[in-house]
Amino acid sequence: MQIVDLIVDPDHMGDAQMIRSLALARAGLRDDGQLRVRVTRRSIDARSKMPRFLLRVAVGGEDPVRTCFRPRPLGGKRVVVVGAGPGGYFAALTLLEAGVKPVVLERGRDVLGRLKDVKKIYSQGLIHPHSNYCFGEGGAGTYSDGKLYTRSTKRGNVDRILDLFVAHGASPDIGVDAHPHLGSNVLPRLVRSMRASVEGAGGEIHFGAHVADLVVDAGVLRGVRLDNGQQVDADAVILATGHSARDIYALLHRRGILLEAKPFALGVRIEHPQTLVDRMFYHHSPRHPSLPAASYRIACQTGERGVFSFCMCPGGFVVPASTAPGELVLNGMSLASRKAPLANAGLVTEIRLSDVQGDDTLALLRFQAGVEKAMFEAGDQVTQQAPAQSAADFMQGRLTKVLPRSSYIPGIHSAPLHALLPDFVVRALRQGLTIFGRRHKGFDSSEATLLAVESRTSSPVRIPRDSITCMHPGLDGLFPCGEGAGHAGGIMSAAMDGVAVASAAARYVGG
Ligand SMILES: Cc1cc2nc3c(=O)[nH]c(=O)nc-3n(C[C@H](O)[C@H](O)[C@H](O)COP(=O)(O)OP(=O)(O)OC[C@H]3O[C@@H](n4cnc5c(N)ncnc54)[C@H](O)[C@@H]3O)c2cc1C
Repeated sequence: MQIVDLIVDPDHMGDAQMIRSLALARAGLRDDGQLRVRVTRRSIDARSKMPRFLLRVAVGGEDPVRTCFRPRPLGGKRVVVVGAGPGGYFAALTLLEAGVKPVVLERGRDVLGRLKDVKKIYSQGLIHPHSNYCFGEGGAGTYSDGKLYTRSTKRGNVDRILDLFVAHGASPDIGVDAHPHLGSNVLPRLVRSMRASVEGAGGEIHFGAHVADLVVDAGVLRGVRLDNGQQVDADAVILATGHSARDIYALLHRRGILLEAKPFALGVRIEHPQTLVDRMFYHHSPRHPSLPAASYRIACQTGERGVFSFCMCPGGFVVPASTAPGELVLNGMSLASRKAPLANAGLVTEIRLSDVQGDDTLALLRFQAGVEKAMFEAGDQVTQQAPAQSAADFMQGRLTKVLPRSSYIPGIHSAPLHALLPDFVVRALRQGLTIFGRRHKGFDSSEATLLAVESRTSSPVRIPRDSITCMHPGLDGLFPCGEGAGHAGGIMSAAMDGVAVASAAARYVGG
């Protein structure tokens, strides 16, 4: 097999025969009609005047064998997995492959029931404390853009997660695209298919199962207790509750189980017309029909503080991601087609323990909750309407008279974000916007809307664990996992962490 790299302009991306001929010519081979030619990597080079596709193509050889889900017969051991997000579901699949029975306990509803509660956020402003954009089957990423990007360089582990997504119904393109994404309309189907795999192989999944306490005996974790008093016994417990399960941090703190404060990031969601984003990052608008909506990842250093974009959603929507009444939290999502007219991204800065009042383990979490409450109180205090300001007015410190169009369905109201957000955050965001505006004309203009607040970027608390056994250093049988434990950030890394932690838990119980 030979690997060749090609540069293809957008006009020819749909021409499979031309790509085949180019690849064979580059490999120095004649087309005998039999040789296999397949694209193994696809990315976009947007540095030149007209963006081009960069293709890596394999000529000859066999198609790679995709790994799929291979459960083993179950032994007698069972592991409770708290949380049915990517961390929890990939942990459950991995336990089944080790012959260990997972019992998944999820506080929220199944993915379809959850959708009804998400709709009530829009129709009535109601935030259900167990079923919302962060809680419920599939976890925080279910109604998201479904970006599968990770900074991990462990290709084997990344490929395994992508293969399992494909085995559960994702497009095989995710194994080819340099920046794959699934989309909110595809994710619920994948999540249901994973549930079928877990249950079909003998695992259990319980919805409406809110874990409220731990069952500890002689310093060893023996199970958990639900909020209705029911005890669920286990040989080990994987805690994959995500970064919004504040009651879990409170529970561990109350029980004297070691936690650590962890820096996180906070700021605003910034929204631009997609045509402006295409112009800024493709240097071209309207974009070529074979190009996807342009996306970006940008960062800069302002004094001692970093400012960066987070979870960018091209052609997407800003969504209300609060998990309790009386708070306001924003995030973003896109459908698979990414065809909506506006693009949004988090624009955030680092928050360290030295920035906030108090130096205890939960000080950063209190700060995060305080800003979310203040943003809710700046609105009508009933719905999830978000305070907003144009980027140009934020820079000048004045209210915006006519707000630009927004995709945020609960609505936006004009507010002085420069006065509502903490001073050091405003300073950093202003410096960041100035730098980004210089680099990308229009980024900080009156066409850009800032909405507050983007605060659930990652966990403000870490649940420590041993780097080899993955077990908490102070409680045998407790396996902190995923984003809520501070060991992952994003769907891919949470899924990879689920695999790693479940393998360790299976070893611990002798699976
Ligand atoms: C709107 C939105 C868009 C996003 N977009 C992207 C994206 O495009 N790409 C990306 O990589 N990441 C995205 N993320 C982040 C991503 O979803 C998370 O990083 C990822 O889901 C973390 O996985 P996890 O399994 O660790 O935790 P979670 O997905 O948060 O899952 C935790 C689960 O635990 C459950 N739980 C919590 N407490 C309890 C309890 N006491 N008892 C029982 N169950 C409990 C919750 O209900 C939840 O289902 C997005 C997040 C949101 C909210």
